[in-house]
Amino acid sequence: MNGFGADNLPYGVAAPPGGAPRCVVRYGDDAIDLDALQREGRLPGLPEHTFGGAALNPFLALGRTAWETTRARLQDALGDAPRFPLATAEILLPVQIGDYVDFYSSLEHASNLGRLFRPDAEEPLLPNWRHLPVAYHGRASSVVVSGTPIHRPSGQRPGFGPTEALDIELELGFITGPGNPLGTPIPAAHARDHVFGFVLVNDWSARDIQRWEYQPLGPFLGKSFATSISPWVVPLQALEPHLVPARPQEPEPLPYLRTDGDWALDIDLEIELNGTTISRTNARGLYWTFPQQLAHATVNGTNVRPGDLYASGTISGPAPGSEGSLIELGRPFLRDGDTVTLRGAAGEISLGEVTGTIRG
Ligand code: MN
Repeated sequence: MNGFGADNLPYGVAAPPGGAPRCVVRYGDDAIDLDALQREGRLPGLPEHTFGGAALNPFLALGRTAWETTRARLQDALGDAPRFPLATAEILLPVQIGDYVDFYSSLEHASNLGRLFRPDAEEPLLPNWRHLPVAYHGRASSVVVSGTPIHRPSGQRPGFGPTEALDIELELGFITGPGNPLGTPIPAAHARDHVFGFVLVNDWSARDIQRWEYQPLGPFLGKSFATSISPWVVPLQALEPHLVPARPQEPEPLPYLRTDGDWALDIDLEIELNGTTISRTNARGLYWTFPQQLAHATVNGTNVRPGDLYASGTISGPAPGSEGSLIELGRPFLRDGDTVTLRGAAGEISLGEVTGTIRG
């Protein structure tokens, strides 16, 4: 089933020819029509029209019990559930993203970039890096679905003009569920109640703009022009068999960042540039795990909402050819017309792909 069998069943939004967008689940090369399935009375217990809109947010807001029940009902209904072929459908952004955060959780990436951006520093990592999952708030309005053309941004670099250092960042992102009341942090141990699923993320980056603007408040226009995500949100439930022990952390994190159990995701990842694979890596090597990211992101009591996107940061491995960006791979930056495709899979569970072509 091409990585989209009954053990995967990722959620998305699609419109059949001449039809309105609605929430669907990918099964093989078809879209199971969740709105039609609910109208047939085969998803009892959910609020009316949960799946009739052009975003998964109403379903995300229902929480873990509804997610688990729906997945079980879907697996039972696969034989004769209403569906349409994806080949002729329009596949849309799956979620109305309210807030977007990008972490910086790969030790190798943070070290590589520290050396490139601060060549005179003795230590490539800043002193806080091993104590907390560093992040910045990105821009939700420019998160686009796979296939959307990427326009080369202009900006200060420090002269003004089109970026001459357009790069990619290979990342994973999680999509949140119901959220928390303002003032109430989410403990790391509650991650399963709040993390619905995962997408692939390409955090397009203009390195010349970024390098000039990023100190002291972090990335801004070098990142906010576009972020691409894959269209299929793979439920955490489908990825449970692929959770593995995370790498050791030294020093031991503060109590609110400690976790029990296995929280690294054993997901193989690759970058393809104009049809050639240029990097292969795996997400299990990330230093900070997603429950730690969520706990840190809310430790001050800020509130998560259904459909927020939290990206991992660039995923780079220690070996040459496992880096998650062109600048780290030592490759030329992107030219107009270049197409970049990121892919991911955990065994038989495909995350699909996120692709984008550069327009001048
Ligand atoms: Mn990034």
